[in-house]
Amino acid sequence: NKTEKKRDLAIIGAGPGGYVAALKAAKNGAQVTLIEKNSLGGTCLNWGCVPTKALVRSAEVYDELKNAAEFGCKAENISFDWKEIIGRKDKIVAQLSQGIKSLLDKENVEFIKGKAELIDQNTVKVVQTAEEITIKTENIILATGSKPNKLAIVDKKAESLVLDSKALLELNELPEEIVIIGGGVIGLEFAFILARLDVKVTVIEYLAEILNFLDPDLISEITEAALEAGIKIQTKAEAKSIKKTLANRALVEFEAEGEKKYISADKVLMAAGRKADFGGLDLAALGLKTEKSKAGLGIKVNQKMQTTVNNIYAIGDMTAKTQLAHAASEQGIVAVKNILGQKAKMDYQAIPKAIFTEPEIAVVGLSEKEAKAQALDFKVGKFPIKANSKALTLAKKRGFVKLITAVESDLVLGASIIGPHATDLIAELTLAINNKLKVEEIIETIHAHPTSAESIHEAALAVRDEGSLHF
Ligand code: FAD
Repeated sequence: NKTEKKRDLAIIGAGPGGYVAALKAAKNGAQVTLIEKNSLGGTCLNWGCVPTKALVRSAEVYDELKNAAEFGCKAENISFDWKEIIGRKDKIVAQLSQGIKSLLDKENVEFIKGKAELIDQNTVKVVQTAEEITIKTENIILATGSKPNKLAIVDKKAESLVLDSKALLELNELPEEIVIIGGGVIGLEFAFILARLDVKVTVIEYLAEILNFLDPDLISEITEAALEAGIKIQTKAEAKSIKKTLANRALVEFEAEGEKKYISADKVLMAAGRKADFGGLDLAALGLKTEKSKAGLGIKVNQKMQTTVNNIYAIGDMTAKTQLAHAASEQGIVAVKNILGQKAKMDYQAIPKAIFTEPEIAVVGLSEKEAKAQALDFKVGKFPIKANSKALTLAKKRGFVKLITAVESDLVLGASIIGPHATDLIAELTLAINNKLKVEEIIETIHAHPTSAESIHEAALAVRDEGSLHF
């Protein structure tokens, strides 16, 4: 069976890049087909952002029950059921996936499940369906995402013991002990989830620090918190090989300080970064170019998200600009606006980054080390979480809010938050940076009491010579 249809826009990949672009275009009258070979919502909804945060919450509840006495509560015989935790996660994912389907239906976006192929700059073919569908289209948006880096250090026999983040989210049983290779965002989020669920966790990181893109004060705060949570961290360590032992365990060989070292565990999580996935599309045949970007090799795009072929756009992780869901969505909006003839450019200055460790971390704009490297004339305003009254009621003491501000203009240039609700609080500072607000404007804004947001107000006061009021 063969079908041919005409469309204004065909989108390949239904992650937060692709499906948001589809909604935006359809809301503006375009006839849109969205093609996905796997599951609606992409990596983010099915094996990334959402499922991991469902697990974070389960781990947090279990942890709080263990510490019930601190709140004057009693909880006895506390335990958890991993299968139930996974079941809850699956329900959340299914509900959100259904939600996306309803939104697409409401906007008359045609959704086709199947693998898309690029035939020419106006033709997309969908295979892996009962019929072969050819779409003749004015414009194409590519949004095929990313995939985990695989280190070629795993012995064949040990393969079943080595998981990527997707496989970990589908485990039937929790391991007692795990080695996580990679101390980046994904590695650390899993380290905290698993450690809080009583798994013995060791993180092996090649660089000198975990989460090395952060400022040193954030790194030391989160490192201390990790150690306190029972997470072992081995930095400056290069994983060399993974073999299976006679006891069916994974033996990880790594080199640290010029020495060969070994550690064994039930499972290994490979969290050594992700790379752009071009979805099996033959980019070169269509003259689509690639380029090295922040997150490795990505498809080459300009600020309008246009590839080197003018009616083909590319967004999300495959551009290797950032590896963030909300950035993928915004790139999708920018691409659609340009397709609709509105002039839009992608701006990367104020994209918040949220890390769901315990405490949470969130950053936006310039870091202190970037401000130093650029030799800017800047000031730092910092306020410790331990001096925030809401934090005390939550029994949280660790962390701070830090603002980086320009001396001459008084503009907020960057912000880092580590502490309770950091990932939500960063929105205020994202708004400030995106709208070029001054420190004075934060100071003049009344923040409700008692809230975590007061720490932002206090950090703004700390930029001034007079200093913060409560510390
Ligand atoms: P994806 O979400 O990867 O979607 C691409 C889709 O394209 C896939 O569904 C794929 O099946 C489909 N596809 C590929 N090729 C074809 C083809 N030829 N035909 C049809 N379909 C195709 N980001 C955050 O912002 N916050 C977080 O908390 C967060 N947590 C994460 C946790 C983990 C464990 C992981 C792995 C990632 C996390 N991320 C997080 C990153 C986030 O998931 C990605 O940045 C985001 O999914 C990128 O969106 P995208 O639309 O570019 O691609």
